Amino acid sequence: MPTDDIGKKIQSLNIPSTVKLVAVSKTKPLEMIEEAYQYGQRIFGENYIQDAVPKIQNASHLPDIQWHFIGHLQSNKAQLAAQYFNMVQSVDSMKLAQKLNTAAGEFQKTLSVLIEINIGEEPQKHGISYRSVQKLMDFIINCPHLKLLGFMCIPPYGEEPRPYFQKMQSLFLKYKDAYHLTELSMGMSSDFQEAIQFGATMVRVGTKIFGKRNK
Ligand SMILES: *Cc1c(COP(=O)(O)O)cnc(C)c1O
Repeated sequence: MPTDDIGKKIQSLNIPSTVKLVAVSKTKPLEMIEEAYQYGQRIFGENYIQDAVPKIQNASHLPDIQWHFIGHLQSNKAQLAAQYFNMVQSVDSMKLAQKLNTAAGEFQKTLSVLIEINIGEEPQKHGISYRSVQKLMDFIINCPHLKLLGFMCIPPYGEEPRPYFQKMQSLFLKYKDAYHLTELSMGMSSDFQEAIQFGATMVRVGTKIFGKRNK
């Protein structure tokens, strides 16, 4: 791959400067992350903790790089997530929040978190129902080592995403002021433009930057 290829791909996404781009580098080698970094990209998203930790350790020469955990996190991996990541976008239970809070405390850091909302109410999917979100928000804001910044969602696969993005936008606006929320993370390679129309402050793009994945 020519060295300016990843930079060109990021540029051609045309993300407005008010929206943060999370470059989803899961399964991709550190060389590709370095290439995006040289181009100016700083936030990277990973969702397999075992793959991510060695990459993060080997990326210590890249100052102010930020790692966001975007996959499902088993609570026995909370320790690793709190140690290596700047943000966990997929908090969906009090149990997980509790574990992340304790672990972040041990590393004397404040971990930024988003609550993952199962906006399509799909039984097989992770994330919590929007109906129980306030209870989880109230729990998290009382965790001294967590900083609640907002919500994340993945709309149902293969469906028109706009109605779901709209629901997320309403939910975000409902709680934004009272809970000082700043981030609404939604939109991936196939639908980030629609997500931005519905107020996404953060989009998570993998395939359109790094190419197809094998898993
Ligand atoms: C893989 C992944 C993405 C990126 O998906 P692409 O379609 O490759 O852009 C975004 N968000 C989450 C939670 C993911 O797991």
